[in-house]
Amino acid sequence: MREIRVIGDPVLRTPTEPVTDFDRDLRRLIDEMVESMYAADGVGLAAPQIGVSKKLFVYDVSGRKGHVVNPELTIDDADEVLDEEGCLSVPGRDTGKPLYAPTPRAAGVSVSGFDRLGRPVRMKARGLLARCFQHEYDHLEGVLYVDRLAKDAKRKILLQAP
Ligand code: ZN
Repeated sequence: MREIRVIGDPVLRTPTEPVTDFDRDLRRLIDEMVESMYAADGVGLAAPQIGVSKKLFVYDVSGRKGHVVNPELTIDDADEVLDEEGCLSVPGRDTGKPLYAPTPRAAGVSVSGFDRLGRPVRMKARGLLARCFQHEYDHLEGVLYVDRLAKDAKRKILLQAP
């Protein structure tokens, strides 16, 4: 299990590098990310959140679970959906639990990329899974969900964060 990096850590603001080797180290990293996600009660985790600046995330949204290496994200349905969203890397200073805010996301997306063995994968998602994919993909670009909020809402969250 790895320590979850929190907002203020530069690794969360650094665009990630593609994974080049589909080797044992990658498989170990994926396993560590899955363990860290479950230990923290998360529904998704991107590699920068454990300090690894690589294009890779894991997820488990109501049992739809897996990992995507070198993901690409396509918006299929740009209709904006507003729903509560939080992030393990943006915890309350006092509670240590994620801070939530209604965050706009596209209603439907496709994600393509590779699995742990380098085999191509492609998924379509709507609802919470689409939200999760957009959130995790953002992490790989150095973007946090608070960046998607209106200025006042963002400020309110940041005042409660570490
Ligand atoms: Zn997050």
